[in-house]
Amino acid sequence: MEATSTTGPREHAPAGTVIIGGGQAGLQVADSLRAGGYTAPVTVVADEAGAPYQRPPLSKDYLVPGQDAAPLPLRGPTFLAEHDITLRAGTPATAIDRAGRTVALADGTTVPYEHLVLATGARNRTLSCPGAELPGIQGLKTLHDAEALHRALPGAWNVVVIGAGFIGLEFAAAARAHGAHVTVLEFAPGRWAGR
Ligand SMILES: Cc1cc2nc3c(=O)[nH]c(=O)nc-3n(C[C@H](O)[C@H](O)[C@H](O)COP(=O)(O)OP(=O)(O)OC[C@H]3O[C@@H](n4cnc5c(N)ncnc54)[C@H](O)[C@@H]3O)c2cc1C
Repeated sequence: MEATSTTGPREHAPAGTVIIGGGQAGLQVADSLRAGGYTAPVTVVADEAGAPYQRPPLSKDYLVPGQDAAPLPLRGPTFLAEHDITLRAGTPATAIDRAGRTVALADGTTVPYEHLVLATGARNRTLSCPGAELPGIQGLKTLHDAEALHRALPGAWNVVVIGAGFIGLEFAAAARAHGAHVTVLEFAPGRWAGR
């Protein structure tokens, strides 16, 4: 007896895994799934446009005078195609329908999933003090932020860095390399001891 099918091959295709977040964690999950032999579709949903990039150089070589200010990709140019990973870049996830197992994206499309991974990282703490939104005040998390600082640093003569963590101090060093006078503000006493 011949089997009859009322659904096409698409309906039988597994929904696979959707990963929200195209940073280090999101890309690594996709990479590890394929390395472990996972064959169902893998989709990475990223709010930032373009190829996923490494953040660490953004506070280091990217800002230092005379260095090549190109972002370093997280993977090589053929990685996604070779591993059959779909990247939906520049399309933030806007809603998750857990009952229907779909993720809605900002461009109006939805992506079905069997497994959903949230790899959305962390945000910089914003300042709550008056004036925090004034022009010339710039955070450092994304390539977009680093591009703004890269443009501003050559003309900067007086730079104030709020936060003496690794990124703040790396940025302070880059600003000094541009010849700027730099003041670092930190509320924790002795925070930079040993750095
Ligand atoms: C300037 C800088 C320098 C650093 N230097 C170092 C270093 O020297 N050594 C070190 O170990 N670590 C360093 N780090 C930290 C390191 O980069 C982070 O730990 C790492 O990037 C975290 O990766 P992640 O994937 O968890 O998060 P992220 O890199 O934050 O990636 C998460 C992504 O998800 C996206 N996202 C969030 N919501 C949505 C949504 N709704 N839809 C789609 N996408 C979404 C975010 O925009 C982001 O692109 C540095 C970080 C910065 C910013």
